[in-house]
Amino acid sequence: MAALEDLEFGKSDFVLLDEVNIEQFMENLKLRFEKARIYTFIGEGVVSVNPYKQMDIYGKEDINAYRGRELYENPPHLYAVADAAYKAMKRRAKDTCIVVSGESGAGKTEASKYIMQYIAAITNPSQRAEVESVKNVLLKSNCVLEAFGNAKTNRNDNSSRFGKYMDINFNFNGDPTGGHINNYLLEKSRVVQQNGGERNFHSFYQLLRGGSVDMLKSLHLHNDPANYVYTREGAVATTCNNDRYSHNAVLSALNVIGFSEEEIHSIYRILGTILILGNLQFETDSESVLVVGMGDVSHIAELTSTEPDNVTKSLLYRTVATGGGEVIEKGHSEKEACFGRDAFTKALYERLFGWIVGRINAVIEVKDYNPVLHGKNTVIGVLDIYGFEIFDNNSFEQFCINYCNEKLQQLFIQLILCQEQDEYKREGIIWQHIDYFNNQIIVDLVEQPHKGIISVLDEACLSVGKVTDIVCLESMDAKLGQHPHYTSRKLTPSDKTMEFHRDFRIRHYAGDVTYSVEGFLDKNKDPLFQDFKRLMFNSTLSFPLLSSLLNPVFSVLSPVFRSAVHTLLSLF
Ligand code: ADP
Ligand code: MG
Repeated sequence: MAALEDLEFGKSDFVLLDEVNIEQFMENLKLRFEKARIYTFIGEGVVSVNPYKQMDIYGKEDINAYRGRELYENPPHLYAVADAAYKAMKRRAKDTCIVVSGESGAGKTEASKYIMQYIAAITNPSQRAEVESVKNVLLKSNCVLEAFGNAKTNRNDNSSRFGKYMDINFNFNGDPTGGHINNYLLEKSRVVQQNGGERNFHSFYQLLRGGSVDMLKSLHLHNDPANYVYTREGAVATTCNNDRYSHNAVLSALNVIGFSEEEIHSIYRILGTILILGNLQFETDSESVLVVGMGDVSHIAELTSTEPDNVTKSLLYRTVATGGGEVIEKGHSEKEACFGRDAFTKALYERLFGWIVGRINAVIEVKDYNPVLHGKNTVIGVLDIYGFEIFDNNSFEQFCINYCNEKLQQLFIQLILCQEQDEYKREGIIWQHIDYFNNQIIVDLVEQPHKGIISVLDEACLSVGKVTDIVCLESMDAKLGQHPHYTSRKLTPSDKTMEFHRDFRIRHYAGDVTYSVEGFLDKNKDPLFQDFKRLMFNSTLSFPLLSSLLNPVFSVLSPVFRSAVHTLLSLF
């Protein structure tokens, strides 16, 4: 089992520890890390510690060292895992999946990119053009996905704000023939609001700081992110990314992937629309609510190919059905108008992102595959969801992310621990029972029917009466007060780290997280006023992307944020 490595670097496989306990585990991890060994095997998996500096371990020679070798022939590395997956796929025509898990900033996305680069490097030795082009698009897609789906958080300058599951398809030769990207849980609330010190999605800053003078002029944009409500918070945040440079890299990646000039311009028109919409304010004049500053409205109308009057109307009114089957127009209050505007920009961005992913998929999807001619089509999947998160303010998004990580932990427990122990039992191997924490109890806390947090939220969303976030919290306190992993200020009044009528805390497998219940109900409901949909759907034919984003046939109202968790988990 021992990999080729000197013992001075510690044990290269945690399986070799004399005693399995946290102290020994951490000691070994630390020793190895200090000796610049960031990877350690744990059976067939690899534990990785983020070095936060460029390591000279991903070059051509490193790739060659792992190519076609067995797991135990080389020191621990991501490449060893990638090669094992590739071999299983090639030798036994077996579909495989590499799951990358860890808290935010741990290095998951970088790891998934190294895995893809490794697979790209070891395939297509004969350099066939069509395979090279598939590989190129697969690799370039990361740059685009990160521009639109990543943002600076307080934990990671380039944090993925969506989950990604990428399938790479292979033919009988073991060469990539295409792929498919599934995206999950884009954190669209970031479009309208960010925590202190954080940024909106990179794409906005890249456009403003990197877009040409002509482009910005045609979009009616200024180049300073401080001019826009949606990017103001992040305008001063320093990051290690250069937005101007990245903008050009994204443009070139979009070109390589095959986006047309018109499509690229449409993408930026939508970003511009979102930024300008975010600056719109409303005022109340005697009885009625008005938009402040009609200049912006006309720019929005121009960018979306609609009429200014229609823009104003959909910002200020909603169409409601009366009891008698009639339809009337009801004016918004200022608050409702702001709420509607933000719901609209979030939905626009989410759909834009979905459209970009779909567009990439259309390019990389396997075409003309004939199993008789080409043999079985096998896949390697790489799952990189966003990791466990604890911030100063944790809201519904963190709740969903952390729930998803609990489910992933369940998967690990089932796949690795239970299966292994069952196998030992079956084969009559004597083994020492290791106690491990089974987090099913936390999963139940969230998803148990009639009792779990999700069911409390769903019931509240369905109820006709006025249910508030605070009422939900009370209901959770009543139903879950006895649960060992749940508490709130009301349940532990002496704990001043929580606020009354606002916070609850879950003891997750990876740590305690205090959530503020504010906004939970709205985010769970995910409303988008129908009138915006109608406005955009009627956006003239000169802007097909926008109307297709809101075309009810192709994009039904975006489902509740967390339902994506279920889709994600149904993959397994
Ligand atoms: P996660 O996806 O787990 O949130 P990332 O993969 O985005 O985290 O990593 C966060 C940052 O850590 C990266 O932007 C990079 O600066 C650094 N990093 C991660 N993995 C490595 C690595 N293998 N070598 C060097 N730096 C790394
Ligand atoms: Mg990531």
